[in-house]
Amino acid sequence: MASVYFTPGPAQLYPTVAGHLQTALDKQVFSQSHRSQAFKDLYKRADAGLRALFNLPEDYAIYFTGSATEIWERSLQSLTAQKTYHLVNGSFSKKYLDHAKWLGRDAQVLQVPFGKGFSLEEVQVPGGTELLAITQNETSSGVCMPVSDIHALREKFPEPLISVDMVSGAPYAALDFSKVDMAFFSVQKGFGLPAGLGVWLVNGRCREVAAGLEGKQYTGGHHSIASLQDQYQQFQTPFTPNVLDIFLLTHVVEDMLTKGIETIRQETEAKAHQVYTFLEESSLFAPFVQEKAHRSPTVIVADVLEKPAAEVISLLKKQGMVLGSGYGASKEKQIRIANFPAIFEQEMDTLVKALRQL
Ligand SMILES: *Cc1c(COP(=O)(O)O)cnc(C)c1O
Repeated sequence: MASVYFTPGPAQLYPTVAGHLQTALDKQVFSQSHRSQAFKDLYKRADAGLRALFNLPEDYAIYFTGSATEIWERSLQSLTAQKTYHLVNGSFSKKYLDHAKWLGRDAQVLQVPFGKGFSLEEVQVPGGTELLAITQNETSSGVCMPVSDIHALREKFPEPLISVDMVSGAPYAALDFSKVDMAFFSVQKGFGLPAGLGVWLVNGRCREVAAGLEGKQYTGGHHSIASLQDQYQQFQTPFTPNVLDIFLLTHVVEDMLTKGIETIRQETEAKAHQVYTFLEESSLFAPFVQEKAHRSPTVIVADVLEKPAAEVISLLKKQGMVLGSGYGASKEKQIRIANFPAIFEQEMDTLVKALRQL
């Protein structure tokens, strides 16, 4: 019997992946040249699907990279020379900050404790900041930033480019892309695909800034915005891309569009509601994030009160359900439950019943 993976990445595969993979093998897609018309057609189709799914404004471009981690670095290299500002509330937002420091940027930070989110009044982005880095869903702690807060930050701070790490929130998070400048994700979380592909959504303002920095700051390299954009205009990439993932992503995005993003969002919220309601009633578990508005619908973190978390994980594993362990220092006392679109309502139901039995 196959297990169900409630892990926050790599995660449960989207239910249609196996069929699409077989189609790609039958059609020998992975042996075709990435300079062929067939690849350009595939990229174009991926582009159209992602534009529809995210409701992207016209001026956005869509680039492929190796990972989201790479986009942390590339975005800072291509879009900033000096000053960045980071909202940090967990391990992933912290890593974006670390990349800025490694690159020698004057990286300012607003940091709040693990398990907490941000209140808008606290955020004061200094003048001259080139890029404001936001992690929409902090996978380590299960804290999300409501998209309405991200939109409000645009009103408050029109000057800096706004970069949104939506790795574990996409495609659920209903971000208005006209109110940010770039966003990115990798595919092994909410899209339920094998790891190894980063997707970078970049608006015209970013491309202008990148062009303006050309020569002043390091902007070269095979994944600079200039080189990615140059190739993107012909639906090409500056390197041999992960055609396996691009193919699967294209088809899974089309499946999601057929299902309807609104339906996916409603199902996500219904499953999240079921889990959080259980956690609040339970005497063995408690929701880790106290502030309800900051509780992530897509990555749910629970404190385990009376047992070691590892024991819960191992009991569930025997029943064919793989949970995520707590992140880093929280490994001993927390579990993480990914609530991505690949998890059926009935599977979440079975998980909650099993947790109730413990
Ligand atoms: C997983 C994750 C990343 C890193 O993704 P990779 O594909 O491993 O590069 C970045 N940000 C967040 C919020 C994540 O959850």
